[in-house]
Amino acid sequence: MSVFKKIIDREIPADIVFEDELCLAFRDINPQAPAHILVIPKKEIVSLIDLTDEDEQIVGRCVLVATKIAAKEGLSAGYRLIVNCGDDGGQEVPHLHFHLMGGRKLTWPPG
Ligand code: 5GP
Repeated sequence: MSVFKKIIDREIPADIVFEDELCLAFRDINPQAPAHILVIPKKEIVSLIDLTDEDEQIVGRCVLVATKIAAKEGLSAGYRLIVNCGDDGGQEVPHLHFHLMGGRKLTWPPG
């Protein structure tokens, strides 16, 4: 079971900022920007590679939730929404998650 499933099930604590029937959002334990929030589906999807057509609503909801959190966090100057996918993509936690990062000028490209 991934650490994020344990957060969904309240087996380990997290600073949760949003929850509905499809998604959960909480602050990253090792923030890389003043605002760094992870938006995850409650469904156990490992990565983008594992998405199926039936996940369309879940993914859409996660992205919309991220935009609403960005507004609530005051990120009106902009932000980044990132998905690390698989080994080459730098994914460490095997549960799909969207990194919402903002509150500073972010550089591009990433490493
Ligand atoms: P990835 O590299 O998989 O895209 O990103 C995983 C993210 O999850 C990292 O930014 C890491 O800091 C965060 N993370 C890992 N374990 C925990 C945890 O137990 N709680 C929280 N809130 N974040 C975590």
